[in-house]
Amino acid sequence: MHPEPILISALEHWSYCPRQCGLIHIEHVWDENLFTLRGQIAHERVDEPVTRSERGARVERALPLWSEVHGLTGKADAVEFRNGKITPIEYKIGDGSQAVHASLQLCAQALCLEEMFGQAIPEGALYFIKTRQRQTVELTADLRSQTVQAIAEIRASIESGVLPEVRWDRRCFKCSLIDACLPQALTAAESQKVSPFQPRTEADLP
Ligand code: SF4
Repeated sequence: MHPEPILISALEHWSYCPRQCGLIHIEHVWDENLFTLRGQIAHERVDEPVTRSERGARVERALPLWSEVHGLTGKADAVEFRNGKITPIEYKIGDGSQAVHASLQLCAQALCLEEMFGQAIPEGALYFIKTRQRQTVELTADLRSQTVQAIAEIRASIESGVLPEVRWDRRCFKCSLIDACLPQALTAAESQKVSPFQPRTEADLP
C-alpha cells in the first residue's frame, strides 16, 4: 500500500505537461482560463453523485474511486453498469484532441474499478460534449503499462518536491498556469544562462 495516494486527475496533467502536474500537485497552484472554465461548466452535469437508469444501464455519476495497489484516489464522472459489464466514462469539453491525455486518466479509473469490484474492465469511454460523441477506449496492455509508468513517475516527482523543467511550446498557450509558470521568461533565461529576475542591462533596473 502507498502512503500518499495520487489524485487520478494528475495523470492527465502529467500527460499534458509534467511541469503543469508539478505546479498543481506539488505547489498547489491553480488558475482558471477559458479552457478550464469550459471544462468546469461541462462537468457540472456529472459532479453530483446520483444513480440513474439510462437506456437499460445503471449509471453512477461522480463515483468515488480508489486503488490501494496503485495508490490512487479520485472519482469517475460516470460509471456504466450494463449486463454485468462495468465501463468508466470521462466527460471532456473538447472535440477529441485531448484523447491521448484523457485515456491515461480513464485507464487509471479502470484500474481502481477492477480492484474495487474484482472484475476485468476491457474498455472505457470518452464523451466529448462539444461534438456529443462517445469514443470507446480499449484498455490495452500497452495503455495499462503507460498508465502504471506515469503513476510511478508522478509519485517520484511529487515525493522529490522538485518542479519538472519548463518547456516553452504550443501547449503553453492553452495552459491556465502560464502566469505562474513563466515558460517564456524561464526558457529565455536558460538559453542566456542568467536569472529572469536579474537585471540584464542598466535599463532593466527599476
Ligand atoms: S505554461 Fe507550458 S511549461 Fe508551464 S506548466 Fe503550462 S504547459 Fe507546462
